[in-house]
Amino acid sequence: MSAYVPLAVKYRPQRFCEVVGQDTTVRIITGGIRKNRLGPALLFSGARGVGKTTIARILAKALRCENRDADNPEPCCRCDSCLNFSRDGYTDVIEMDAASNTGVDDVREIIESSAYRPTFGDFKIFIVDEVHMLSKSAFNALLKTLEEPPPHVKFLFATTETHKIPKTVTSRVLRFDLKKPDGNLIAQHLSSVCNREGIAADAETLALIAKAADGSIRDGLSILDQAVNVSENETLSICHIKDMLNVSDDNDTVDLLELILFADIKSSVSKYREIIGRSGSAEKIINALADFVYALTCLKTNITPPEQIISENLIPRLKKISEEIALSSLSVIWQMLIKGTEELRFCDRADIIPEMILIRIAYASGLPDLGKLMNNLVQDNGLPENKKIFRDEGDDRKTETISLVDEALKMFSNAKTEQDG
Ligand SMILES: [Zn+2]
Repeated sequence: MSAYVPLAVKYRPQRFCEVVGQDTTVRIITGGIRKNRLGPALLFSGARGVGKTTIARILAKALRCENRDADNPEPCCRCDSCLNFSRDGYTDVIEMDAASNTGVDDVREIIESSAYRPTFGDFKIFIVDEVHMLSKSAFNALLKTLEEPPPHVKFLFATTETHKIPKTVTSRVLRFDLKKPDGNLIAQHLSSVCNREGIAADAETLALIAKAADGSIRDGLSILDQAVNVSENETLSICHIKDMLNVSDDNDTVDLLELILFADIKSSVSKYREIIGRSGSAEKIINALADFVYALTCLKTNITPPEQIISENLIPRLKKISEEIALSSLSVIWQMLIKGTEELRFCDRADIIPEMILIRIAYASGLPDLGKLMNNLVQDNGLPENKKIFRDEGDDRKTETISLVDEALKMFSNAKTEQDG
């Protein structure tokens, strides 16, 4: 029985056309290969897992491919050079992790080796990962070679922290800032891998995995691997995956949001307890609610919410909710959530604060809309006879509203006095 190859390894891109979510970078690099106009040093920056070293390796392979021609920038993946690329003893592509080789001596080895031509092929290539970890003296030593590099040398640097690299170095490299691919793109990629692997998974499940991957295709594929292990008959079940990831999915959070928006205090709290029982992080839940209130506000004002905030499959549901809620209410709820986040951070009662935040918001959502009331007041009752609109007193919410209206009227008249004075 042959050893199992993890999906993240099996589906690691071997050609530029297989790279997901880095179209601009790939376009510039393949254009540079075609026109033979890539400089001696390139720097790939971006978060962990966005594909920096993957692109660097494909580029190294393409530059050394024996079938390289001006029309096709892709490595052929068939010639001896391409086939031997990942094997030990492939001496003309040297990979170094600067996190564990930070000193000037480590860099000196690179510099000395760069003076010699490659054993075969046109280029000798140095891939330096986490290059920002090099010491100051190591950077200084490297700088001389970067200023006058031998024509057969290419440096491919990767970093998660560009700002830690000296300006003297960054000004001598061609820079590529790789963005995290959004959740929808990752979900699409996972879906195509599932098709090829005979794994059954619905869109909701893949969206959940894509969200947990947080911009890293590699992490997405690793989670998919684990998900298959906890599933039966290669069919992924969202419940298993929720348990496995220890998270609640977005639909749960929208359920909770809906309950507080429509003032169902009791169900809000029990839904919250159900979610916190799984995910364990109150801060995450409150932040996710804030994300959705932001998304609702966007939808209400015909602005497209960014894809990293909200996955595409939730938009129809949120759109429907947004039609039933006033913009002013969303704005109030937003402020209450943000204030709640601060309370959570500074008070030592993370066990009860979130429930109080939700109760407060659900209660406020049940109050009549202040804007509408003010309109009614002005139209039907005139100022300041505000109490006329409530014939039957005794309802808490109405009393609360009256005192709110009272306050609003006071503010209004103060502002007017100031203006007049
Ligand atoms: Zn080749």
